[in-house]
Amino acid sequence: MTGASTTDKPSWKDAASRDLVLNSGDRYALFVRGEGAYLWDDEGRRYLDFLGGIAVVSLGHAHPAFVEAAATQAATLTHVSNYFATPPQLALAAQLKRLAGTGPEGRVYFGNSGAEANEAAFKLARLHAGADRPRILALKDAFHGRTMGTLALTGKPYMQAPFEPMVPGVEFLDSTVEALEAAMDDRVAALFVEPIKGEAGVIELPEGYLAAAREITARHGALLIVDEIQTGAGRTGAWFAFQHAGITPDAITVAKGIGNGIPIGALITFGAAGELFYPGTHGSTFGGNALATAVSSAVLSEIERAGLVENAAVRGAQVREAVTATGSDLVEGCRGQGLLVGVALRHPVAKAVVAAAQEHGLIVNAANDSTIRLAPPLTIGDVEIDEFQDLFGKALRTVEDALLLDENHPTPEVSA
Ligand SMILES: *Cc1c(COP(=O)(O)O)cnc(C)c1O
Repeated sequence: MTGASTTDKPSWKDAASRDLVLNSGDRYALFVRGEGAYLWDDEGRRYLDFLGGIAVVSLGHAHPAFVEAAATQAATLTHVSNYFATPPQLALAAQLKRLAGTGPEGRVYFGNSGAEANEAAFKLARLHAGADRPRILALKDAFHGRTMGTLALTGKPYMQAPFEPMVPGVEFLDSTVEALEAAMDDRVAALFVEPIKGEAGVIELPEGYLAAAREITARHGALLIVDEIQTGAGRTGAWFAFQHAGITPDAITVAKGIGNGIPIGALITFGAAGELFYPGTHGSTFGGNALATAVSSAVLSEIERAGLVENAAVRGAQVREAVTATGSDLVEGCRGQGLLVGVALRHPVAKAVVAAAQEHGLIVNAANDSTIRLAPPLTIGDVEIDEFQDLFGKALRTVEDALLLDENHPTPEVSA
């Protein structure tokens, strides 16, 4: 890590590497508090959070609407199981239907994460399949989750390899209309689409893809299922990314940004797809409990009240301008939509940029070796964007300098 003292490893790092499973690399910091777009670590250092817990913290940390909803509901009723309904669960289902534009026939299934929302969508596709639709199509490089079902939907062979055999029936396509036309037939139950491939590096679908996918799947009686887990809840400048394309999917999945950090995910169906589940076909003990749904409902209401969907569009453009204004030669350009931004770098130094940014007090993420992902709270304004430009510029310069050093010395300086 650039400029960091490496002599004394803090004890929390020892605890993390001793007590946590080894599924993740070293943790970069120990955060103890958050407020708005800022985080504080155990040494009292402040960081500007332009990752938002990976597109989760829509309202910012410790937002009063979130805190109030969580405290009030925890003091009222948290959990009763899905043998029973609760007012917050029904309110959130109605709210999600309205924001997604399902019309009255829409239905909502609640789980506790993105993966669980996609597991429900996978089962929906199988229920639609009957005996004569064994095929499920998904896109290469799209990410749908880490459970065995959602991993089977995730078109990344290196992620699947250690866990084979996969749940069968899924085929992976290039993200082109031609590839979809060529693959589609009446034996396809569903096409899964990630409208902007966040984990792959904030990569958009080709212009017109969603509209074509809607037409082609409809023609063959296949479901179109859009994974809005990263793109939903206003992040792209619409409530859901599919709305930019003006289509009606058969189902969408949501999680991350709808909860601001409370674990929740949901499958939202449109039209006849909502009639596929019948009693006993799916469920979750925690799914849609009163605490999670009350908080999510308050989060969505606040996004709506404060105009944060519009803010995501406006501030997203300003964040891109700020990236350009750093003047860094490392930056090739920006991808994405609204406040889901991928900064493409000219060299595979994204991890070094992330480390340098943290040294300068800025949290960002390397979606891949040459892409920095930005997904800040939807609440950011001029102050945060100016500070981002300053800190990100410093981080880029730190790495540029190291690259120059690298050219003059045989030992690689940029390997974080
Ligand atoms: C994060 C993500 C998931 C998985 O969500 P989890 O809550 O981590 O299970 C699925 N699909 C997309 C597009 C995501 O970004």
